[in-house]
Amino acid sequence: MYKYLRIGILLFILLTVAVSAWQTQTKLRGWKSTLQVAVFPINADGSPASQRYIAALDASRVEAIGDYLGEQAKHHGLAMLYPVRISLGPSILRLPPPQPYGGGILNAMRWSLEMRWWAWRNTPATAIRPDVRLYLLYYDPATRAVVPDSAGLAKGQLGIAHLFASPRQHGSNLVVATHELLHTLGATDKYDQGNQQPRFPEGYAEPERKPRWPQQMAEIMAGRIPVDETHANIPENLDETLIGPQTAREIGWLKN
Ligand SMILES: [Zn+2]
Repeated sequence: MYKYLRIGILLFILLTVAVSAWQTQTKLRGWKSTLQVAVFPINADGSPASQRYIAALDASRVEAIGDYLGEQAKHHGLAMLYPVRISLGPSILRLPPPQPYGGGILNAMRWSLEMRWWAWRNTPATAIRPDVRLYLLYYDPATRAVVPDSAGLAKGQLGIAHLFASPRQHGSNLVVATHELLHTLGATDKYDQGNQQPRFPEGYAEPERKPRWPQQMAEIMAGRIPVDETHANIPENLDETLIGPQTAREIGWLKN
């Protein structure tokens, strides 16, 4: 009985949060004013390498995401000079709650609530109140070969990107951060969850290209450049990606 009461209360809170987040997202996807995005670096593994990388992180380097989105929006005919403005906020010391592995939908919903609570408690104030908050968690590549999966809370206006604290990875870090940012605006993944391959045609940057493989670029929500039917490469920087028409529709740039 107690368990059902707890689940009932959790569902009620989630419904309230979901409705208000949906209203905000609908407003943001109207693109009536510049979307303000604040990014906050976090030393995820407590390493000196991550600390050095964060200390050297320059605002202009993350602002590249805003320039990229401006170019892509123009390509899709959005009549706005600066659709997205990225600003670099101070780094945050306390880590966000870890994402649940497997564990079903209730765990995922609980995590999304914990994440909102953590963000509310730990996000420092910035000069401009951000519409979207992106948390960049850095790890020393010398001590680990893989980082956890990143997550953009659909309809949550906050995203988490797990990244390598290495100047060599800076370009691909921006690709991951942009991918998660687009999730917060309603964009969906365009790759096969089983084998990570981009889905055709929506996950291809140039679906009309003949021959179809190798592709030269990645659709940002597919995240990889397909080189043949079963292989795809990770793009090294945003220049190797574009926003396809389906993603543009999902985030409100294209109306049909
Ligand atoms: Zn994704």
